Amino acid sequence: MSEMYIAKEKFPATVKQLMGRCRVYGPVFRGQYHEFAELKAAEDADMGYQNTRLSPKELFHPQSERMFTYSLDKSDSEAEILKEAPKDFSSRVILGIRPCDAKAFQLDDRNFDVDRFRDPWWVKRRESTTLVGLACNQPCASCFCTTVGTGPFDTGGLDVLLTDVGNGYVARSTSSKGDDLLQGMEGGEKVSSEAAQKVMDLKIKAEKQLGVQFDVSTLSEQQMLELFNASFWDDIQFSCINCGICTFLCPTCWCFDIQDEVHGNKGDRIRNWDSCMFPLFTLHGSGHNPRSQKLQRVRQRFMHKLKYYVDKYKDGVACVGCGRCVRFCPVNIDIRQVARLMSARCVCPA
Ligand code: SF4
Ligand code: SF4
Repeated sequence: MSEMYIAKEKFPATVKQLMGRCRVYGPVFRGQYHEFAELKAAEDADMGYQNTRLSPKELFHPQSERMFTYSLDKSDSEAEILKEAPKDFSSRVILGIRPCDAKAFQLDDRNFDVDRFRDPWWVKRRESTTLVGLACNQPCASCFCTTVGTGPFDTGGLDVLLTDVGNGYVARSTSSKGDDLLQGMEGGEKVSSEAAQKVMDLKIKAEKQLGVQFDVSTLSEQQMLELFNASFWDDIQFSCINCGICTFLCPTCWCFDIQDEVHGNKGDRIRNWDSCMFPLFTLHGSGHNPRSQKLQRVRQRFMHKLKYYVDKYKDGVACVGCGRCVRFCPVNIDIRQVARLMSARCVCPA
């Protein structure tokens, strides 16, 4: 593990040096909210941000992506050949990502990077990216990362973790990619014992503030069909307007749809985010729709994250507790409350 202290007055110069080595993305303020964007200047990175509205999954799994182009023009020498649209897989750093969002990418890997089903663009972007996280000294009231197995200082999905200790950042690498990054970084100093102690104190304080808000351990013991047929889904779905916000801003929602856009005798094959909250999501070509009712769609979202995933992987839930869906659902549907209802149902007899 490498570590260094970077004084805040030297931080822009350090970022600038990094920008000379690769593409650097960071949290940028857009008038009303923050989003991750490629930095044009080192000062554009606002490291005092809380979190972005949209998760940074867009950087690996774009909301809309041209996959291929094709031509049906017979006079075209490459007619009827599907050509991969140009993409940039050069090395890059994502600076200031929150530990929960980085952890979410590890969950998403289970969808995009498994033995027989490797999404080449997801894999290449993951390989070419170094994640430099920013510990959450002051988590939001709607965050619950510690409840779902991650935490405000979790290094699990990161290559480097930065902790804001007041006048500077303590940077610690947690992978060989992180080691390489820090070893080539200018402006660093030795970490003092006071700064190291401050990191410990901030971690303990943030974790204590979050606490454990519900018990996910009983979800695996619930009977699938009992949960599926539970009466509480009717109450939960009542206010949902199926806007899809919860799924679009969630770092662990990965669903997409592929469509062809045809312009004359040329076309683009495009991949767009999709949402289990939308009625068209499960519409079959026959016209049959197994989730035509709102209740079925709302139930699907929560059952997937808190039961199907739990039973399939036996390794936590498909939620990292970022709290975005809690903060931005227009009708205040709260996944924490749903999880409490699901985990409190009767447990299977041994
Ligand atoms: S954000 Fe809220 S209202 Fe919109 S689809 Fe999700 S749960 Fe329903
Ligand atoms: S379900 Fe909600 S709290 Fe959990 S990761 Fe997705 S947006 Fe964050």
